[in-house]
Amino acid sequence: MAAAQSERDRDAPSALCSEFLSFSAKDTAARWLAAADLQQEIYRHLAAYVPRILCVGPSGCSSREEQREEQREELACQLLLLAPLEWLLLGAEPAAGLAALQENNSPSPLCGHVFKVGEPTYSCRECAADPTCVLCMQCFLGSVHKEHRYRMTTSGGGGFCDCGDAEAWKKGPYCHKHTPTSSSRDSEEDPVALLPADMVSRSSSIFSVLLRYAVAMLTWDQEDQLPAGLEPPDRGDSYYCMLFNDEVHTYEQVIYTLQKAVNCSQKEAVSFATTVDRDGRKSVRYGDFQFCDQAKSVIVRNTSRQSKPLRVHVMHSSVVAHQCFALKALSWLGQIIQYSDGLRRILCQVGLQKEEGEYSSLVDKLMLNDSKMWKGARNIYHQLLMNSLLMDLKYKKIFAIQFAKNYRRLQTDFMEDDHERVVSVTSLSVQLFTVPTMARMLMVEEDLMTTIIRTFVDHLRHRDLQGRFQFDRYTAQQAFKFGRVQSLIGDLKYVLISRPSEWSDQLRLKFLEGLDAFLELLKCMQGMDPVVRQVGQHIEMEPEWEAAFTMQMKLTHIISMIQEWCSSDERVLIEAYRKCLSALSVCHSGLPDGEQPISLSLAGHCVETFRYQVSQDKVSIHLPVCRLLAGLHVLLSRTDVANRYPEQLPLGELSPPLLIELPLRCLVLCAQVHAGMWRRNGFSLINQIYYYHNVKCRVEMFDKDIIMLQAGASMMDPNHFLMIVLSRFELFHIFSSADCRKRYSEANKDVIQQNNTLIEEMLHLVIMVVGERYVSGVGQVEAFDEVRREIIHQLSIRPMAHSELVKALPENGNKETGLERVIDTVASFKKPGVTGRGLYELRPEWSKHFNLYFHHYSRADQSKVLTQIHLQIHTLQPSRPVQGTHTNTCTNTHYSRADQSKAEEAQRKLRRQNGEDTALPPPPPPPLCPLFASLVNLLQCDVLLAVEGAVLQWAVEPSGGGWTESMLQRVLHLVGVALLEEQQQLENSSGEDDVTFNYTCKITRPGEAPSTSGSVLALLESLQNAPHLEVHKDMITWILKLVANIKTMRERTPSTSSVTVCQGQRPEETVRDKDKAERKRKAEMARLRREKIMAQMSEMQKHFINENKELFQQSMEELEASTSAAADSSPPSADSGGVSQVCVGPRRVGRAERRQLVTCILCQEEQEVRGHGRAMVLAAFVQRSTVLSKNRRKNLPDPEHHDPVFMHPDLSLGIYTASCGHIMHATCWQRYFEAVQLKEQRRQQRLRGHTSYDVENGEFLCPLCECLSNTVIPLLPHTHTPHQSVDHPCLEAWLKTTIQQVAALHWAHRKQSDGEAEGAEPAVPEGFRVDFTPHNPFSSSVSEMITTFSMSTYKVGLKLNPNETDPRVPVLSWSTCAFTIQSIERLLMDEEKPLFGSLPCRQDDCLSSLARFSSACWTAAPPTTTHTHFIRLLAALVPDSQVENTPCILDIDMFHLLVYSVMSYGSVHSLDQSGRRAVDSAHLHLLHLVTVAHLVQILLTSTTEEVCMDQDGGESEEEELTCQLYNTLRKHLGSVLPEVTSSWQLLSCVKAGILPFLRAAALFFHYLNSAAPPADLLVSGPGQWEALLSFLSLPSNLLQLHHSQHTLLDPLIHRWCGHPGVRQTLGGGGVPVQFPRESNRLIELPEDYSVLINQASSFTCPRSGGDKSRAPTLCLVCGCMLCSQSYCCQTELDGEDVGACTAHTSTCGAGLGLFLRVRESQVLFVAGKTKGCFYPPPYLDDYGETDQGLKRGNPLHLCAERYRKIQRLWRQHGVAEVIGHAQEANQTLVAIDWQHL
Ligand SMILES: [Zn+2]
Ligand SMILES: [Zn+2]
Ligand SMILES: [Zn+2]
Ligand SMILES: [Zn+2]
Ligand SMILES: [Zn+2]
Ligand SMILES: [Zn+2]
Ligand SMILES: [Zn+2]
Repeated sequence: MAAAQSERDRDAPSALCSEFLSFSAKDTAARWLAAADLQQEIYRHLAAYVPRILCVGPSGCSSREEQREEQREELACQLLLLAPLEWLLLGAEPAAGLAALQENNSPSPLCGHVFKVGEPTYSCRECAADPTCVLCMQCFLGSVHKEHRYRMTTSGGGGFCDCGDAEAWKKGPYCHKHTPTSSSRDSEEDPVALLPADMVSRSSSIFSVLLRYAVAMLTWDQEDQLPAGLEPPDRGDSYYCMLFNDEVHTYEQVIYTLQKAVNCSQKEAVSFATTVDRDGRKSVRYGDFQFCDQAKSVIVRNTSRQSKPLRVHVMHSSVVAHQCFALKALSWLGQIIQYSDGLRRILCQVGLQKEEGEYSSLVDKLMLNDSKMWKGARNIYHQLLMNSLLMDLKYKKIFAIQFAKNYRRLQTDFMEDDHERVVSVTSLSVQLFTVPTMARMLMVEEDLMTTIIRTFVDHLRHRDLQGRFQFDRYTAQQAFKFGRVQSLIGDLKYVLISRPSEWSDQLRLKFLEGLDAFLELLKCMQGMDPVVRQVGQHIEMEPEWEAAFTMQMKLTHIISMIQEWCSSDERVLIEAYRKCLSALSVCHSGLPDGEQPISLSLAGHCVETFRYQVSQDKVSIHLPVCRLLAGLHVLLSRTDVANRYPEQLPLGELSPPLLIELPLRCLVLCAQVHAGMWRRNGFSLINQIYYYHNVKCRVEMFDKDIIMLQAGASMMDPNHFLMIVLSRFELFHIFSSADCRKRYSEANKDVIQQNNTLIEEMLHLVIMVVGERYVSGVGQVEAFDEVRREIIHQLSIRPMAHSELVKALPENGNKETGLERVIDTVASFKKPGVTGRGLYELRPEWSKHFNLYFHHYSRADQSKVLTQIHLQIHTLQPSRPVQGTHTNTCTNTHYSRADQSKAEEAQRKLRRQNGEDTALPPPPPPPLCPLFASLVNLLQCDVLLAVEGAVLQWAVEPSGGGWTESMLQRVLHLVGVALLEEQQQLENSSGEDDVTFNYTCKITRPGEAPSTSGSVLALLESLQNAPHLEVHKDMITWILKLVANIKTMRERTPSTSSVTVCQGQRPEETVRDKDKAERKRKAEMARLRREKIMAQMSEMQKHFINENKELFQQSMEELEASTSAAADSSPPSADSGGVSQVCVGPRRVGRAERRQLVTCILCQEEQEVRGHGRAMVLAAFVQRSTVLSKNRRKNLPDPEHHDPVFMHPDLSLGIYTASCGHIMHATCWQRYFEAVQLKEQRRQQRLRGHTSYDVENGEFLCPLCECLSNTVIPLLPHTHTPHQSVDHPCLEAWLKTTIQQVAALHWAHRKQSDGEAEGAEPAVPEGFRVDFTPHNPFSSSVSEMITTFSMSTYKVGLKLNPNETDPRVPVLSWSTCAFTIQSIERLLMDEEKPLFGSLPCRQDDCLSSLARFSSACWTAAPPTTTHTHFIRLLAALVPDSQVENTPCILDIDMFHLLVYSVMSYGSVHSLDQSGRRAVDSAHLHLLHLVTVAHLVQILLTSTTEEVCMDQDGGESEEEELTCQLYNTLRKHLGSVLPEVTSSWQLLSCVKAGILPFLRAAALFFHYLNSAAPPADLLVSGPGQWEALLSFLSLPSNLLQLHHSQHTLLDPLIHRWCGHPGVRQTLGGGGVPVQFPRESNRLIELPEDYSVLINQASSFTCPRSGGDKSRAPTLCLVCGCMLCSQSYCCQTELDGEDVGACTAHTSTCGAGLGLFLRVRESQVLFVAGKTKGCFYPPPYLDDYGETDQGLKRGNPLHLCAERYRKIQRLWRQHGVAEVIGHAQEANQTLVAIDWQHL
């Protein structure tokens, strides 16, 4: 097989080595210079060397080997291949030559920085020509745009910085760095002229040879042969099996196949797959042909089953080698031209020159072969194109022309290609087309617009019989293509994005040609996806609808842009209008054909139309041609073209009834769907209707349909218009005959309901047609007014965040909504707190512009608005924002339905409450433009009056069901609009003759047939007092007043000037009325305010419980806390009789003997806590913690061999216990837990998946508060106050006794293990019985719970299965007690809270039960075990020759030592039967000993650098004693300790260092002995030190502790210092922990988020050699950047593959991690392998919102307050709980594969 090869491999490098030495690049260059045919010479050289240098032998065995191999190749390439080229090019030594070149270069001002994936890019929203114009971070920071409104995004890779491109920026095109200086070259000047002539010719030929070589090799498609001149001198049988990338097969498939095909490990397969994915190809096997071919066939066979097989080639090694060098050559060219703009231009020339005798240039060849190349090759040549052609303004143009010429071919190739677009040469379009001059040039010279559109249309071949697009029969392949072809729309958008300021005739011509092509496209869309109403049966299959809407959505901006282009030139507009109209007539041809003509008559008017029913015939939502015409029609009005050139417009050809026909059908369809007539057509239709109105589509759909109806109506007799509308709504018969309605009222209920809804919808449509005037061109308004009106109506629903508003407004092609310009004029901003977001609130003065029938309201919105407005009107103050409401504008129809009914209910309720004050009159409408002026006649036409009369008549006699209040409301609104119109016209006119609009006159006329009952006015008057119309009374009153007003105005009009005045002068009557109304209104206001407060309170409660469960629990606990604290804790002892309060030692006072009663949360029974009683337990959660760690690099302990007896002072791993404070009977809890287990088992059988808690690991949720728990702590009774009768031996005596006891125990242990002990039994203190078995003070149920909790700490602490016989069990229980106290002491310190009295009840309960439990847990362990522990612990203080492996005192955490020794002493003490010694004196002595040891420890480790701050006066006693002790230490250790002169400084070091220990000890003894804390420690402030010492029964001069006993202690100190560890550590053998230990914080984050993005973008995956990481993730604990969510960085943890975050978490946070996902701007919490959640990041934009997913791109800044909140959560060990709650609240979080992040 490959044996022969490997031999050759081995000597190949050495053979090369010798050639290195003899090879001279300079000489070779000289030879080439002299050669006649340079190409031949260079080719010969490459043919000889390339196959010997590159790609010799297998690769990919191990990454290190591969790296070394790469370095070797790199070096050889440089020396043997590139160096001679450089010599030849520069004519000098390369380094010097290049430096000279650069010096003489005057660079172009373009930055041209090419973006890496994930790098931040900045665009200025004020100055950028379009959103694709971006700056790199460096340029941005040096630009003026830093101070503007900018947008920040992360690059998807490719593309470059536009700094220096004057066309890309409206202002400020240059940053500081790229500002052209006087010395910089004029852009017109030829940079080649600056180069020496010989260099020009040399470089030209070198570039030409090399580029030709590279192109030949990269486009080479033979696997076994090489181009002429490159054949290797000797050809071995060595091949590569090359695997290529595709986007069809998944990672898993490739990995699986490779393992089978080339017999590699999983790891290697992953590495292969990763490289294939990154570079596009990778050799997976090396050897002879047969060997490789075999692998190929296995791969092909394995992957061909479902799809086309993976692409594999067996390639000769020399071919691969030349291809590799070709890439290196291209990179080399790219580097060389960076030195000189002249060289760059020469390369451009060479690249774009037509090859001799050929049609195309080298660059053409590359482009046209793009889709055949592998990813790596494409990336490199694209990069070269960007560095060369796109950086040279002259050649950029020539290249653009070539690109446009090849456009169709390139796009077609791209369709066939299966790579993403970023690696296709077609993606360069953004660089070329977005330059406005370039786009225009290409449009004019290369027909670019037409080409793009035609190419697009050509790729969508499926059509129906009428030639319309048909998507429903698409295969997967076609759907895929459809996805790709959309990028063409993107290109079209680039071309059109900036409209021309000047038009040439050529441009007009080409644009109109392009428009022709575009109209062809629209014609294929007109009428696509038609629907027919389904009757009887429900449709069987939901028809396809998404493709058509995708297309509509993508084209929306294009359509808008085309209109903008048209609006900028009158001739273009006129011509476009003609073209569009004739396109529409083509669509209409055959429209009325075959339809039966009918004639309709109503109210004395007659119209001819044809029979067509939406409910029976085909109808389509897609009418882009009509809608474009509507858009252009408005432009005719806006630009005044219609007025100025009426003769040029084909207005005569318009047939208004035809114009309105299709849009009307579409609107009727919506109404019918709403009326429930299309229920059987399924969700497909509902979705279409939804998108039709949606903000993404409505601008070019719904809005334009309304405009088309307005246009049609303004050109028609209004009566005719309305009759056609009635007919299409299928309502004509109802209004045409009087008794028809009666007949219907007897028909079935469904039909009545349907008709009622249709009438409402029809009236709403009429309201919109006459009332919607906020489109510039329809009404006399500006774009500004349009946006403002949208915002007012959005904010009338409720206060909204910036992002919500942005979502509710349509974006233009530049992704702008115009919001910012308007928002501050109508709304005020409310800042967010620590949670929630900033909100905009409508200023009350704007609410009068509110229109209930605003056309962009969804039905749900309408009723919400009603509620809101009523509140505002009646309280006259803006309603408070409700934080965190989830009522986003509906995202789907189902949601909006539910929402709607809710809102409607609220509305009805409100109306009932408000009784009268419900008038919501229409706001005054803006005047219409002349072209639309006749629209107003609709309001006073006979047909509408007949309709109004009919509805009012029904309302007068409301029998039967054929009538609704909504109908009446709409009619009243229409009447109101008409009256306002009349009033306005009167106000603005100069004489009555001008005002042709006379609605008041018409409504006083009695009605004509069929409603002969009376005039509209009369009907209104009779309705005014109708009892059943209480709700509308106010509105009717308003109308009648207005009528009276107008009548007055009309009477006075001869003296027109007084019109406005007369409005002000009100008759006496009205004033009185007004007063009355005012009083009533005030009373009403008060009532409403009361009700509102009530409602708010209940709302708040609901919120509290639902949304803020966590908080709710806390507050519940606080309630409990206050009660339990009041009942439980004895008041802080005022010094009773001058005896100060003490918590340890024989003088301490325990809790007054009282029964401790608790209630079980499960059975609600009360129970006394007793050692012998039924056990009571506290739900608790035990977790490992590194929060206090001072050494994160330390490896986790090996669970089997870890010795926990001594805690290292670095506290690298602790066990933390927390509790929610809820108490249960042990038996109740057990029953509950068994039930949870059972439920979980059943659930697992049903469906696989996770819960938020892991039952198998003992986890459960507290039954009361659902807090995550994993064990329970038993409650134990308080200790008694010691009897005053017992002795209190002095330290010396106690020590002596204890040493005796220890000796006896030693002896006993030896005897036990060896059978017999040597030597005599040592003397034993009186009453001490080694063989005594103390009686267990606890009942079996309490003992059982003690074991349960011990096992939990053991299991969590060591990650081992429970093992009751392990001697380490009690140590771990003590450990969690000590560590939890230590953590809480730190927390209190950091938050500057007093030591006692500030803890929440749950922590208080937890610590107290923990302390008492720990002191009792020895009872559950074998006595010898705890005795041994005590002996070992004591030996650390009082060295004992019989104990080995005692650590030195620098390696012991003294607080842990104190807790452990106090706890373990209990078991030794239990052997003392004398009854004369109290355990308390031992505690006090142990405290003294440990404190002295800690003092020594602090003195040894405090590096008191000499800061000479000699204070005045003599030393205090304390200082003196400190110095004494220090000098004692120096005596023992000598020069290892520095000399200290400032005793004052030394003392303050000692005090600061020991404070945390003393505080922790105080907490410990307080909880252990239930001692009440002294008053001084209940507050923070001065006096803490003294109070602490006294509470701990320590001398007020702490150093006395040593001094008073120094004869006893000095020998001990001597032996501590004598430990070899001390000398070693201090001598530099380690970094000792210093005291006080500083509290850990989360890492510092930068203020500006883009700094983070930038950091992350330069972060490379640590595993896959310099590759960019896709999900860079920052550990907030240690600052480590990780490559998350990626195969490359998966590692094995406990036999499972886990992602980088989980792996890091296991070491950095002992299973718990806090991360920031930089690309997503999201905080990630993970716990273990299966749990995690996302948390809002501490970065906010200026609108007080986070941007999770970085979608909006507003600049983000650090919110210190929110970051502190996260830090506190971490320090409090609350992260696991947050995860638990998040997962409980959101089940989808449970399903996320956290371990792979
Ligand atoms: Zn730049
Ligand atoms: Zn710049
Ligand atoms: Zn700017
Ligand atoms: Zn119970
Ligand atoms: Zn609880
Ligand atoms: Zn970390
Ligand atoms: Zn990685």
